[in-house]
Amino acid sequence: MANIGFIGLGNMGGPMAVNLVKAGHSVKVFDLVAENVIAAVAEGASSAATAIEAVKDVAFVISMLPSGPIVESLYMHDTMLLDEIDSSTLVIDCSTIAPENAVNLANAAKEKGITAIDAPVSGGVGGAKAGTLTFIVGGDQSAFETAKPILEGMGKNVFHAGGHGAGQVAKICNNMLLAVHMIGTAEALQMGVDNGLDASVLSDIMLQSSGRNWSLELYNPYPGVMDGVPASNDYNGGFQVDLMNKDLGLAIDVALKSKSTTPMGNIAKSLYVMLSRQGNGGKDFSSVQKLFSQLDQ
Ligand code: NAD
Repeated sequence: MANIGFIGLGNMGGPMAVNLVKAGHSVKVFDLVAENVIAAVAEGASSAATAIEAVKDVAFVISMLPSGPIVESLYMHDTMLLDEIDSSTLVIDCSTIAPENAVNLANAAKEKGITAIDAPVSGGVGGAKAGTLTFIVGGDQSAFETAKPILEGMGKNVFHAGGHGAGQVAKICNNMLLAVHMIGTAEALQMGVDNGLDASVLSDIMLQSSGRNWSLELYNPYPGVMDGVPASNDYNGGFQVDLMNKDLGLAIDVALKSKSTTPMGNIAKSLYVMLSRQGNGGKDFSSVQKLFSQLDQ
């Protein structure tokens, strides 16, 4: 069992840190929000007074933070954690950030003799709580092998996508596709309803037909079709529209740099920005259904 420092105990990081405790690790936690630290300590973690204290005398540092600039600021600039971390410690950043932020962190770490890998996740808050996340790792093979048993304490699938930043590229590709099939599912359901079909019946038909996809099968965006999904809870909980917007922004940046053509991703980004501007930034991303059905208007 390992000594782990964990920074960033939000919707995702909080339950992830708790799952590491449940897996038998000794977990020292830090967050800017005291209540988040208290909640993790109540589940068996120990608290660090500062980020610097959290990274001392641990074999692994795991971070789960909102954005690339925050990750760089914490490790490389303002807090300069890389100056405090021992070279034997493996840094695993699980935040969803731009690939170049991940590469910058890996390179800055390497200059100090530290290994840092990117390991963004898929599976949402439900997966974080259930310990069923998918981890998508970017970094060298030996660091991947070292990280794998630790990540398995928080998830059920751990993939090695490639070198530094590759985990982020794979995660961003996935979330762009997720946005596209969620929007496609919502518009198809609304067209059916507008033409007299029952959304549940249409969903059943498409689930056994070629329109089948993850959004339709596990995360139906039409209210009342599926129990236990945000659409049946006024689009509360789940994966926020503004986080989807962040990921689509990252996708557009990646596409620009690689000169990739991503028309569907660009349309998805426009629709999600529109949805956010209508006051849904904090709602689940399946609330894109509202753009087509105008449920609240
Ligand atoms: P969140 O806003 O709930 O949590 C972020 C946490 O980081 C907060 O508790 C905040 O106080 C803390 N924090 C910010 N700056 C800090 C600093 N300098 N030092 C210490 N703590 C700091 O966000 P979240 O939903 O947990 O998402 C975290 C990351 O996971 C994001 O990159 C997001 O894109 C990604 N992600 C989220 C989901 C999801 O469904 N929410 C799914 C997959 C990936």
